[in-house]
Amino acid sequence: MQKVVEKERMRLVLRELKKLYPDSGTALRFASVFQLAVAVMLSAQCTDARVNIVTKELFKSLKTPKDFALAPLKDLEKLIYSTGYYHAKAKNIRAMARAVIEWHGGVVPDRMGDLVKLPGIGRKTANIILNEGYGIVEGIAVDTHVTRLSNRLGLTAHHDPVKIEQDLMTLAPRKDWWFLSNALIWHGRKVCHSRKPDCVGCALNKKCPSAFRA
Ligand code: SF4
Repeated sequence: MQKVVEKERMRLVLRELKKLYPDSGTALRFASVFQLAVAVMLSAQCTDARVNIVTKELFKSLKTPKDFALAPLKDLEKLIYSTGYYHAKAKNIRAMARAVIEWHGGVVPDRMGDLVKLPGIGRKTANIILNEGYGIVEGIAVDTHVTRLSNRLGLTAHHDPVKIEQDLMTLAPRKDWWFLSNALIWHGRKVCHSRKPDCVGCALNKKCPSAFRA
């Protein structure tokens, strides 16, 4: 019975989100699937706007997996410094580039199973690469916004991204999976902020069990 309620809520939420964010998509800028992978890795704990500023310069000097694989770590760290966690990100990006060359002949793989074996790439990043890079929808990317909104909207009771993804995939039709992820991210950025959600101005407030209580 509970699933029926959640499914209906998902239907209504999707309907509103489609009105609010008809053109939702990633804000990250990239010129190849490999650059998309780098941009998504840089976006951890950082805004897309900041990542775009950094990659505009970064991709002028480093473009291909080979460029990144051969880049001295210190140089890479300097270039990505302002995205935060630059030491770990530089190490992971270089290791990812080397693995793409050694294991996949320099081409970012288009299968979830292969992607999540690359250094620094988890299911969320892999879902974004598959969809934005290859047009393949295999799941729903769950970041902090999707986690927060899915809980507030009563679409899941879980906090683990893998379990949240499973719940959302059960409730939403497959054709809407990618839209849902992007639209929840936009709504989280614009309206349902983590500390001060704007429930008064939120178009979902009549369907949201957390309205005026979050
Ligand atoms: S009503 Fe409030 S808590 Fe619910 S989605 Fe909107 S802003 Fe977030």
